[in-house]
Amino acid sequence: MTPNLNMFSLEGKTALVTGANTGLGQGICVAYANAGANVIGVARRSCEDTAAKIAAFGGSFQEVIADLSDIAVIPQIVAQAQKAFGRVDILVNNAGIIKRCDAVDVSVEDWDSVININERMVFFLSQAFAKGWIEDNKGGKIINIASMLSYQGGIRVPAYTASKSAIIGLTRELANEWSKHQINVNAIAPGYMETNNTENLRKDEQRSEEILGRIPAGRWGTPEDIAGAAIFLASEAASYVHGFTLAVDGGWLAR
Ligand code: NAD
Repeated sequence: MTPNLNMFSLEGKTALVTGANTGLGQGICVAYANAGANVIGVARRSCEDTAAKIAAFGGSFQEVIADLSDIAVIPQIVAQAQKAFGRVDILVNNAGIIKRCDAVDVSVEDWDSVININERMVFFLSQAFAKGWIEDNKGGKIINIASMLSYQGGIRVPAYTASKSAIIGLTRELANEWSKHQINVNAIAPGYMETNNTENLRKDEQRSEEILGRIPAGRWGTPEDIAGAAIFLASEAASYVHGFTLAVDGGWLAR
């Protein structure tokens, strides 16, 4: 039998991706538009780079400007997304921040800022879309962006590790509650990827060499490397995949 690759198509779907102006979020937006989706990019700043990359192949993209550090923006995001393309079918909780600091020196402000964006917003934005999906009974897809620090402790990043470890648990919990409504909640755990998030690590020659030496694939990942997993989890091909976190890490976790 010839496999029906249409199951991977996102034609006719609308995807909302947070943190769409740079890095992995931008990569996911481009991949989704390429797979046929209308894409809504949410970001604090203009997503002009992302829009230009998508316009280059005639894809469909609109931005929503919002600061994701405060859940009060959620109704506005939902309303603007609906106005742009009607029903949102896919939510990617990608926006995230990292603050590097010895655990003994972490301030309450820094702790809260990381947890607010990486964890609190992920839950309440997911809740907002899932409510609509349960009401209209047409299902939906949620993809959370986890991390290697969802599995490992890391060092000098206690709030980040706490938030990314929470993402794996939350992904499982929400899948347990929402799978019966045809809502797939899954996550992707990127390895060490070349984005702003890892700029300081890559600048530190010693840390950079240590990290690279541990990656079986022998190179840092790129936003393009995450495209296949992100499309798969957003597509009909993943309809029976629930509560799972897929690592895209060049083999890091296998070591
Ligand atoms: P990045 O810094 O380029 O992207 C972070 C995105 O989040 C940006 O688009 C930024 O605008 C957005 N963002 C941050 N604070 C925001 C706010 N208050 N309001 C709105 N948007 C906000 O880095 P990235 O690597 O592309 O990060 C994307 C996700 O991937 C994050 O959740 C990060 O933790 C995760 N991740 C990255 C790596 C890596 O190696 N780069 C590894 C594992 C996980």
